[in-house]
Amino acid sequence: MPDKKKRTPESVEPLGSGFPTRSDASPAGGETVAKAPGGIAHETGDLHRLLVSSVRDYAIFALDPHGVILSWNAGAERIKGYKPEEIIGKHFSIFYPQELVAEGFPEFELRTAANTGRFEDEGWRIRKDGSRFWANVIITALRDPQSGKLLGYAKVTRDLTERREAEEALRESEERFRLLVESVRDYAIFMLDPDGRVSTWNAGAERINGYRAREIIGQHFSRFYPDADRAAEKPRRELEIATATGKYEEEGWRVRKDGTVFWAAVLIAAVRNPRGELVGFAKVTRDLTERRASEARALEDARRVAAEEAARHAAEEREQELRDLATRLQRQAKELDEQRLRAEEARHLADEANLAKSQFLAAMSHELRTPLNAIGGYSDLLAMGLSGPITTQQEEQLSRIKRSQTHLLGIINDILNFSRIEAGQLVYNYATVSMRQAIDAVSHMVLPQAVSNGLTLDVERCDKSIAAHVDRAKLEQILLNLLSNAVKFTAKGGTITMTCEARDARVMVRVRDTGSGIPEDKLQSIFEPFVQVGRSLTAPAEGTGLGLAISRDLARAMCGDITVTSTVGEGSEFTVTLPKATDEATKD
Ligand code: ADP
Repeated sequence: MPDKKKRTPESVEPLGSGFPTRSDASPAGGETVAKAPGGIAHETGDLHRLLVSSVRDYAIFALDPHGVILSWNAGAERIKGYKPEEIIGKHFSIFYPQELVAEGFPEFELRTAANTGRFEDEGWRIRKDGSRFWANVIITALRDPQSGKLLGYAKVTRDLTERREAEEALRESEERFRLLVESVRDYAIFMLDPDGRVSTWNAGAERINGYRAREIIGQHFSRFYPDADRAAEKPRRELEIATATGKYEEEGWRVRKDGTVFWAAVLIAAVRNPRGELVGFAKVTRDLTERRASEARALEDARRVAAEEAARHAAEEREQELRDLATRLQRQAKELDEQRLRAEEARHLADEANLAKSQFLAAMSHELRTPLNAIGGYSDLLAMGLSGPITTQQEEQLSRIKRSQTHLLGIINDILNFSRIEAGQLVYNYATVSMRQAIDAVSHMVLPQAVSNGLTLDVERCDKSIAAHVDRAKLEQILLNLLSNAVKFTAKGGTITMTCEARDARVMVRVRDTGSGIPEDKLQSIFEPFVQVGRSLTAPAEGTGLGLAISRDLARAMCGDITVTSTVGEGSEFTVTLPKATDEATKD
């Protein structure tokens, strides 16, 4: 290259036209172009030279056929930093980085320009201060129009550093963005072309949808939809909406490569170029299956908690109820206890009173019986006439005294009897008692009375095998009382029937009459001591109202009972139930 520097600018003088030269460095130095003839052409040449020299945005300079710089404009000075006097006459390779010079690149450029007329390149160039700039370079070969001889080169250089930096920044930013998008795994982010075909695919899309980029790019995005949605042309409608409104958003079911479905949040955004033309769609999909599941779990948890809470509440209420109930029961138990104590006390008092009453009755009866027996005895003596003859009238009066005495004695005996039972003083001599014998004995006793009252006494002969385990005297006392009552309360012409039977472990004797009957509401109370129904209807002097009370007490004391059924005006039926004797009745 040093040889090139030796060349003189004069050898390519014709190129000096329009360019500042070593002798014509000033942009305003048009008047120094001596060769320029007059006329329009001359003026145009001057204007052109002025234009070139004053352009500041482009470095415009001429080279001789060897690459030596012949001219230098204001733009060249601004871009490269050299003044005309510093650079004119130097070889243009001074602007190239060492490595390009070593490769012979400057010469290559010139050769190419000489061969093809023009060479364009972009690359790093060096300023005077050693700094680099990114240049767009156009080298045009200049030839003599007539001979075609190479006269030199015009070189126009533009500083594209800023543009390149901007492009680089953009590229880097796009690259970063692309890497960012590609590496996002939680979202499927991909592009569709205007027809809905997949054109990009990120890691999230692969993870969520299951396709690898090479499998899916070029495929239509409708394959991510369930069959029903595809049949309903949902994918197409979504793109239409996105096209019309800019975006389409929804949550819905989507299908993975393996055919499983997932709940997705989907955003489709229309992508337009600066001219507003639709270039495709950006699609962002998020798999919400987990969120949906966790929402469902949260809901389920909430439900369970609510149910547990309700159950706990119910249990608490129940517990409270039970506590209340227990408290009430305790209170009631206490009350019952108190009542029981009071009742016991009352019964104790009653027992004491009863005992006192029985003792009083026993004592009184005993005291009354002695004078009564004396009355009876002396009236008998008088009636027998042992103390002298008596008149018929006296005999009649004595018999009345005797009857009253007998009646009174009967009453007193009843009272004594009853009070003894009450006081628990009776002794029971149990034996196997033939019912036939007992009934025979009693029926004979009442027969005269029945006959004189004009009644029929119908006593069924009892099976002789029937026997009761009782105190015979007390059994006869019971039966006698029932028969006497029947005779007493049955009007003339009536019938009294007596039957006997054994059933299971019981022996039953029934005394039925066709008498007055007993009102329903009195059926229980007639067994109470001193109770008599419609006393005025009966003979006033008859009975004490103790007979049934005594009879039932005796029956119960011997593990039996007396019951009654009756219809007023038709008659009554009393039933004595007693324990059956286990061995056979004796035949007396
Ligand atoms: P008393 O016969 O001494 O009055 P009871 O105790 O034997 O006492 O009878 C009580 C009452 O029962 C009688 O007064 C009578 O009103 C009623 N009574 C008892 N047996 C009969 C009967 N067979 N028919 C109708 N009433 C009867």
